[in-house]
Amino acid sequence: MATKRDYYEVLGVPKTASTEDIKKAYRKLAKECHPDLHPNDKDAEARFKELNEANEVLSDPDKRARYDQYGMDGPQNPFGAGGAGFDFSGFGGMGGMGDILDQLFGGGMGGAQRRNAPRAGEDIQYELKISFEEAAKGCEKSFDFMRDEICEVCHGSGAKPGTQPKTCPTCKGTGQVRMQGGFMTIARPCTTCGGTGKIVTDKCESCGGAGVKRLRRTARVPIPAGIDNGNPVVLRGKGGPGINGGPAGDLIIFITVRPHKLFKRNGTTLLLDMPISFTQAALGADIDVPTLNGTVKYHIPEGTQSGTEFRIRGQGLPRVGSSLKGDLLVTVKVEVPKRMSDKQKDLLRQFDAISTGREYEGSKSFLDKVKSLFN
Ligand SMILES: [Zn+2]
Ligand SMILES: [Zn+2]
Repeated sequence: MATKRDYYEVLGVPKTASTEDIKKAYRKLAKECHPDLHPNDKDAEARFKELNEANEVLSDPDKRARYDQYGMDGPQNPFGAGGAGFDFSGFGGMGGMGDILDQLFGGGMGGAQRRNAPRAGEDIQYELKISFEEAAKGCEKSFDFMRDEICEVCHGSGAKPGTQPKTCPTCKGTGQVRMQGGFMTIARPCTTCGGTGKIVTDKCESCGGAGVKRLRRTARVPIPAGIDNGNPVVLRGKGGPGINGGPAGDLIIFITVRPHKLFKRNGTTLLLDMPISFTQAALGADIDVPTLNGTVKYHIPEGTQSGTEFRIRGQGLPRVGSSLKGDLLVTVKVEVPKRMSDKQKDLLRQFDAISTGREYEGSKSFLDKVKSLFN
C-alpha cells in the first residue's frame, strides 16, 4: 500500500482548523477535481478519493481525535458502529457517486455517508434434505425460499414515485446522534431515520416505504454427486440484495442427507452389514450383494467368520468434483439359526458327534490357553 499523505495536507488546512473550515476546504477542492468534470483523468480520480478520505476523518470529531492521537494506522472505531474506520474501499463504484454528490451539493450528509456506503446483501441460509441415493449420484433440486428484493416501483428509495426522501430532523441528515458519556462523546446511529439521514414522508405504496419487498422465489440447485451431510452448496449472488449498489449476498444451502435403510458411509466408502447363514459361512457361497447400482455377485469362501470384511472396488461414493468412486465395504454377520425343527436339531447333533474339535480354530486355541493357565 502506498504511503498516504497527511489528511491536513490533503485538505490544505492547519491542524487547528475548525470543522467548518475543514468542510469548506473540502467542498472547494472536491468541486475542482470532481471526476464528473475530469472524465478519464486518473490523477483527478485519485485526488478526489484522497480528499474524500481526508474529509471523512477530519470532519468527524471522534475520528479526527483518533487520527490526531494515533495517525493513519491508529486503532479504528472503538465503538464498533459500522466498523468501517478509515476504510474507503467502498467508494469508486457507480453506487457511491450519488452520495458524494449529495454531500457536495446537498450539503452536510457527514456521518450518514458511511451508512450509505455500498454494502453486500445478506446471505440466506436454507436447509435442504435429500435422500442417500441423491447424495451419492447427484441431482437437481428445486425449492421455494423467501428473499428481500429491491422494490421495482421505487427502486429501493421507499418514496412514492415523484417524491423525494426528506432530511431527517433528528440528526439533521448526519445519520448519527451524539451522546455524552462521561468524558467521551459517543456517536450512535439515529433511530428516527435508522442511520440513513433521510426520512420518507410519502411512502411507496408497493413496499410500504421499506424499499425492499419480501418475495417467494424458486431456487434450482445442482447437487454434486458425493456430497455429504452438512456440506453447503453456495449459489453466489442469490441472497439478499446489495445495499447502496453493493453486491448481492449468497444463498447458502446446507445439505442434510437422510439415512439409508441398508447403507452407511464413511467419506467415499460405502458401508454395509450383511447377514449370511451359518451354513453359507461354513460351506462358502455365492451371495448377491446389494450396491447403489443393483446387486453384484460375490463369492465368500468356506469357513468365513462373522465380522469378516470384504471390499468391492468402485462401488462406493465419488468425491465431490471427481468421477472416481470409493469402495463398498461389506461386513459379514453370521447368523445362528433359531426356531429349528426337531429334525434339524437331530442333524446338528449328528454333525457335532462326528466333530473332532479341529473344525473350530478359535475354540481350540482358546481351550489350549485355558489349559495352560491351570497346568
Ligand atoms: Zn417501493
Ligand atoms: Zn436521523
